[in-house]
Amino acid sequence: MAMFKKILIANRGEIALRIQRACREMGIKSVVVYSEADRDAKYVRLADEAVCIGPAPSSKSYLSMPAIIAAAEVTEAEAIHPGYGFFSENADFAERVEQSGFVFIGPTAESIRLMGDKVSAKQAMIRAGVPTVPGSQGALSDDHAAIKKVAKSVGYPVIIKASGGGGGRGMRVVHNEAALINAVQMTKAEAGAAFGNPEVYLEKFLQNPRHIEIQIIADQHKHAVWLGERDCSMQRRHQKIIEEAPAPGIPRKLIEKIGERCAAACRKINYRGAGTFEFLYEDGEFFFIEMNTRVQVEHPVTEWVSGVDIVRTQIMVAAGEPLPFAQKNIKNEGHAIEVRINAEDPYNFTPSPGKITMWHAPGGPGVRVDSHVYTNYTVPPYYDSMIGKIIVHGATREIALARMRTALSETVVEGIKTNIPLHKELMNDPRFTQGGTNIHYLEEWLARRTKLANT
Ligand code: ADP
Repeated sequence: MAMFKKILIANRGEIALRIQRACREMGIKSVVVYSEADRDAKYVRLADEAVCIGPAPSSKSYLSMPAIIAAAEVTEAEAIHPGYGFFSENADFAERVEQSGFVFIGPTAESIRLMGDKVSAKQAMIRAGVPTVPGSQGALSDDHAAIKKVAKSVGYPVIIKASGGGGGRGMRVVHNEAALINAVQMTKAEAGAAFGNPEVYLEKFLQNPRHIEIQIIADQHKHAVWLGERDCSMQRRHQKIIEEAPAPGIPRKLIEKIGERCAAACRKINYRGAGTFEFLYEDGEFFFIEMNTRVQVEHPVTEWVSGVDIVRTQIMVAAGEPLPFAQKNIKNEGHAIEVRINAEDPYNFTPSPGKITMWHAPGGPGVRVDSHVYTNYTVPPYYDSMIGKIIVHGATREIALARMRTALSETVVEGIKTNIPLHKELMNDPRFTQGGTNIHYLEEWLARRTKLANT
């Protein structure tokens, strides 16, 4: 297939701009779709073509399949890039796009379905030789004695997780046998109501893991390459706020081994496109938790250390081209760190939408800013609070940290509140700057800060 002439971007915010930039560099025309609340976004102003697809609520615009497909039809786009969030991991959407005669820039609906169900994803990983968290073989039955037996054999505490869960919902930690059956029943009932699928499974609850993920990209000709790992352990309520590559303090040999396994798993399941294998890492071991079948917010840190343009490569492989590099060409160099800039109060985290009266982005060597906002732009209250990302790169982690401190000190955002003060504090926190914090570190740090403020 020849390269696309026109792509429709089915998303908003910074990722819409990111995809638009990739299209422009590749000489591909792009169509942006927007809700009435996003009329003034930068990428809408810069667009080759822009189509309003409905009112502000996502359900009536960015989550309206008919509106998006109709926009692709009237503009004669050939392919649709879903970005992240919204329809990016919706197998029905991928299917509908292809049935309507467009290319879905992402994996097949079949792969999305396989990985979207946590039980089937975990079983596929076990078959592909990727290490998973010890636990039940598939979904739990109604046999109480059998459930107790699995829990006992993996050892308490255990976690009950919904097959159809996502976004950190549908999980329950159990500390002893007395609480087990009730917890299973409650999680099942909740999962049935929330995800339309009551299936749950059980695994060992890891106490102090780090979140480490592997970025992969695969073409339609059975080539799959892993581009590197990211450490995304700095999270609040399961939301990542700082990501970096490489992961501090983990032996390269271990990372290489797991990276190779992920690439092999992609070949085995005939995966195509970009994807991320998420792992919990504890005591020198990796445990698969889930796969994201899309580009991620934190893709720039990997782009910087690997030199691979992930969005461009996504478009190339969707058009049927082979990967333009082999595994041996991929070397990670230096250190990259990303912070997510959210429109929110840096102390109590309440969203802070509204007009940005002054926006000044940082610059200089090793600094990248991905953001769709500008001075006098109004952040709408309807969507995710992220308004951009600052990414830095340096030869070492120390240099990258120093660059991030400088970049944050240069950044000016007035009119709304942002979490920049929080990032400034964290970039000077002795434990974070040392590297290798676990997934609970940020929450514990925030709890200490609140206590201090109250005394
Ligand atoms: P979701 O799709 O909802 O994000 P995940 O399976 O990725 O669900 O899990 C989300 C988070 O829950 C993980 O990042 C981790 O913090 C926690 N978690 C999940 N499984 C375990 C486990 N077995 N042990 C400890 N924590 C876990």
